[in-house]
Amino acid sequence: MNPASGSANPIESTLHQARELLRNTSNIAVFTGAGVSAESGIPTFRDDGGLWARFPPEQFANWLGLEQMMLSNPLLVASFLVELLRPIVAAQPNAAHHSIAKLEQQKSVPGVITQNIDGLHQKAGSTHVLEIHGSLMQTVYVGRSQGNERDLTVDELSETIQELEIFIQSRQPNFPRFLNAARTLFGVDSFGRYRPNLVLFGDMLPALVWEQAVEAVRTCDCLLVVGTSHLVYPAATLTDSARARGAKIINVGLDSCPCDVWLRGRAGELLPRLMAGM
Ligand code: NAD
Repeated sequence: MNPASGSANPIESTLHQARELLRNTSNIAVFTGAGVSAESGIPTFRDDGGLWARFPPEQFANWLGLEQMMLSNPLLVASFLVELLRPIVAAQPNAAHHSIAKLEQQKSVPGVITQNIDGLHQKAGSTHVLEIHGSLMQTVYVGRSQGNERDLTVDELSETIQELEIFIQSRQPNFPRFLNAARTLFGVDSFGRYRPNLVLFGDMLPALVWEQAVEAVRTCDCLLVVGTSHLVYPAATLTDSARARGAKIINVGLDSCPCDVWLRGRAGELLPRLMAGM
């Protein structure tokens, strides 16, 4: 097969190439980004009008900035949280998540490595999901080692959205009232201070999960990359390391990357077509 290095082929022949590649490899790791969940109604943050256009990442995508904003402008942080939570709480896995779960039933999949924080791969039935940027469906105690996560239910998150909306409309949107509305996500209890289990800019990745992701990429003979721009590091290095080791790369999405096959288009449409012939 000729490496496509990002060039688009007519889709049927490209699907055929990708299918052959999957058939001839046994150990297939998966690496996903925001694009895999776009068709579940969760917008990517970077697109025009996305979250980062309205809530600058310098203020909202690092803990220091976010905590300072809570004190100086809790109303804006409440709006940010509502916009972040609402689509994720409402989302269901789409055909792309289901196709990835199906792959696990047919091949050895050492890991579904995801940059996403929405829990949709697990909901679709993938069993070995490596959430390298954490999960919005959990809180974690600050400064305590891995393993102190608390799972949040969809009901708890829905109630939090409602309480934040009431706070936004209240006449006194001050910090203590904000903390009360957001108490499921942020607070202090007898175990310490807790906050969402998210990796923001400047944070270390969760060591054990990252090690498992690196190992999955080290041992795979094919990496199925879905819906990522490769702009976030160190996550983006996973594709390079797989390629450097000689693994085949299938890229499914709207943006190119160095790969053997590029299925150019929407993951929810292309992945089921890819899996249909397997
Ligand atoms: P990104 O926003 O940088 O890139 C998304 C990629 O998906 C782009 O290449 C885009 O063209 C592509 N895309 C959009 N719609 C698609 C579709 N229907 N099918 C296939 N591809 C599609 O996202 P990233 O590379 O994952 O990095 C952004 C960071 O933001 C990550 O750390 C991630 O945690 C976070 N994020 C998570 C979610 C989520 O959990 N669902 C959503 C937005 C952002």
